Amino acid sequence: MEKLINDSILEDSMENVDESEAIKKTIKAGEVLKKVKEEAVKLIKPGVKILEVAEFVESRIKELGAEPAFPCNLSINSDAAHFTPKKNDSRVFKDGDLVKLDIGSHIDGYIADTAVTVDLGDNENLVEAAKAALKAGIEVVHAGVDTAEIGKAIENAIKEFGYKPVVNLTGHGLLPYLAHAPPTIYNFSIERGVKLEEGTIIAIEPFATNGIGKVVEKAECEIYSVVSKKPVRMKMARQILKEVERYKTLPFAKRWLTKAPDVIIGKLVRDGILRGYPVLTEVSNGLVSQAEHTIIVEENGARIVT
Ligand code: MN
Ligand code: MN
Repeated sequence: MEKLINDSILEDSMENVDESEAIKKTIKAGEVLKKVKEEAVKLIKPGVKILEVAEFVESRIKELGAEPAFPCNLSINSDAAHFTPKKNDSRVFKDGDLVKLDIGSHIDGYIADTAVTVDLGDNENLVEAAKAALKAGIEVVHAGVDTAEIGKAIENAIKEFGYKPVVNLTGHGLLPYLAHAPPTIYNFSIERGVKLEEGTIIAIEPFATNGIGKVVEKAECEIYSVVSKKPVRMKMARQILKEVERYKTLPFAKRWLTKAPDVIIGKLVRDGILRGYPVLTEVSNGLVSQAEHTIIVEENGARIVT
């Protein structure tokens, strides 16, 4: 995803990394997420409310001793990312839907992020393409690898299935309370990336499509995060900022808030205090599949934590 984080927030986050604590807590967050993912996949069926699955994921993460790192994403068909249901959303999964379940948990800010595609139709190959690409991308990881190698492996794997990678959705680093930190892990071949060091925690997340391979923003936006702290005058705006303080720099859902009038949220976005994560949809209405794991870079390989 694109970077839109304030430099001082990024510096604070990088300064606070304690490597052994990071690894321990990320592994624990990953164990929680793995279990929640398995359970949630079984709930995704035609006729089931999308909101029911999102709420299950978010409460189950807490039950198992972690916190959601971002709202449960359940993007369907051409929507690739950033769909989460609204408050009281009555929409249901439909027969034929291609559902990307993308979930995150954290323990004291140490994040695990994972995604799987649930096929309620006949798109087995597209699902396999993203899975194979994730596997291929992870296989080339070791301390010292250039991220360009990961992109190349992902692109080749997707193309073998006759599909295209979505070029403007990427994997990313994970830092305390930052779900989209550097380095960017491209899902296609680039000339030169950055070298990964041992102990670095990243999420690899290829997206495959039968469309042209690019996503654009929709108007629908239910996910936000705080990007800078500035004083605000309006009472309702202050209340919202107070309520979201607990999420620090992590994304939250509008439906998690007691009250969130669009006019106030819009003003906070225009003032550069919040940023929105609009639903991202494939520009040619192609179907999109996704697979994602969080990994820790090791001397001779990668440790998958999700
Ligand atoms: Mn994710
Ligand atoms: Mn991710």
